[in-house]
Amino acid sequence: MSAIIPITPLPNAAAASADGMGCHAGKDQMLDAAAKAGKSEVLAQYAADYPKGPHDQPQSMCPAFGSLRVGLRMRRTATILSGSACCVYGLTFTSHFYGARRTVGYVPFNSETLVTGKLFEDIRDAVHEQADPEKLDCIVIINLCVPTASGVPLQLLPKEINGVRIIGIDVPGFGVPTHAEAKDVLAGAMLQYARQEAMAGPVAAPRQGRNSKPTITLLGEMFPADPMIIAQMIAPMGLAVGTVAPTREWRELYAALDCKAVAAIHPFYTASVREFQAAGRPIVGSAPVGIEGTHDWLGSIGAACGVSQADIDAARNQTLGAMRGVLAAQKINGRITLSGYEGSELLVARLLIECGADLRYVGSACPATPWNKHDADWLQSKGVHVQFRASLEQDLAAMHEFKPQLAIGTTPVVQAAKELCIPSLYFTNLISARPLMGVAGAGSLIQVVNAAMGNQARFDEMKAFFGSVGQGDEAGVWENVPVMHPDFKKEVRRQFEKKQKKRKAEEMG
Ligand code: SF4
Repeated sequence: MSAIIPITPLPNAAAASADGMGCHAGKDQMLDAAAKAGKSEVLAQYAADYPKGPHDQPQSMCPAFGSLRVGLRMRRTATILSGSACCVYGLTFTSHFYGARRTVGYVPFNSETLVTGKLFEDIRDAVHEQADPEKLDCIVIINLCVPTASGVPLQLLPKEINGVRIIGIDVPGFGVPTHAEAKDVLAGAMLQYARQEAMAGPVAAPRQGRNSKPTITLLGEMFPADPMIIAQMIAPMGLAVGTVAPTREWRELYAALDCKAVAAIHPFYTASVREFQAAGRPIVGSAPVGIEGTHDWLGSIGAACGVSQADIDAARNQTLGAMRGVLAAQKINGRITLSGYEGSELLVARLLIECGADLRYVGSACPATPWNKHDADWLQSKGVHVQFRASLEQDLAAMHEFKPQLAIGTTPVVQAAKELCIPSLYFTNLISARPLMGVAGAGSLIQVVNAAMGNQARFDEMKAFFGSVGQGDEAGVWENVPVMHPDFKKEVRRQFEKKQKKRKAEEMG
């Protein structure tokens, strides 16, 4: 039986007219609408947690994908979207592209249900229908741009129905700059909920029981082998890897909080870190990548956990010797530029340099935080230009400036590199989806980078074969040899400029 919640009329019905806008237009209007609709507090928190940079608009995929992905990866968790159909289509497509294998829930709306508050009623009904404790621990509802701008009050949903936890979050593209940080929005909300539960009374133990050793919680989605590699590295210090957060199951959240220290392997989990700090856990930045990175990280983890210097040295000796061997045997020879939006770019950059690469530029769509400061300082000391909140334009400018032998980047960077006949690797699928830590990380990265750089001859051959065919105005499929009409183009441009001038004159009154 559903709990009775009064229909809450939307404080800002005018925002309904903003449907169809969002990441492509009307950001200021959406922000203003959301503030007037009672979302000022959550937007202020996002502004503090995820400070904007030279560009304040997502240039990659819809940020909500980050939250959606965190929900979809969890057992016994249902995830429901509330937003425009086009946004939901894109998000569902992307989540299945990345192997969600789970249903994405959707509560549709139209102008009327948005304006009258019926959308909130529909969401509430959907949540009640889904809340089956036999099947679920938690239901996540994500407000996308338009419902956030319209003030759909997810905070009025019950916190729990039949023992199923209900978590409502706003993840608008005009408030959360990257999908990486959107992962933190949901992970932080879940950790906050779990921490309050743990403070209120006994909670479920991990499936495999509590670890007998003090544990380190690893913060950030990483390649599945990395936690195991890290576990081997810290074993001589008497420590174990506990849980990786975002977690795969609700009860793991308690285990994540029940740690000796947190390793912020990915540095952008600001809200999650706040919860760990509230639980009294020390946070350690950076990660065990490369020789210097691993040396420093093991020292910091040991210090945070009160490990003796002798045990820290034992852990260092165990790993660093093998890593020196790998790096002495193989090298990367060549100039590289690197950019991405996963938040792990600085770690990859460190590893590339230690593997011998001539790295000139690293751009990350994520912000500078206390947990990537050490990496940024290290990279800058090696003469690398580090760009936080990097825009696509900055990434492309770096590639043009440094003329690398390999460009590692986002899809548009890789596309531009290919046009320039520069071998390239897509960061998300080809670099961040492989081990980075310890000996395995170094060996694997050297292999993939050298293989890509070795493709230059193939690029040159293709370029020589195709020449300038299919470039610029001649791109696309033609049945005949393309014939250019410069006079026609000139005339169209003239008419366009005339119209622009006329519009400007009218605006000025
Ligand atoms: S929800 Fe995502 S796709 Fe939709 S308008 Fe907002 S940022 Fe764009």
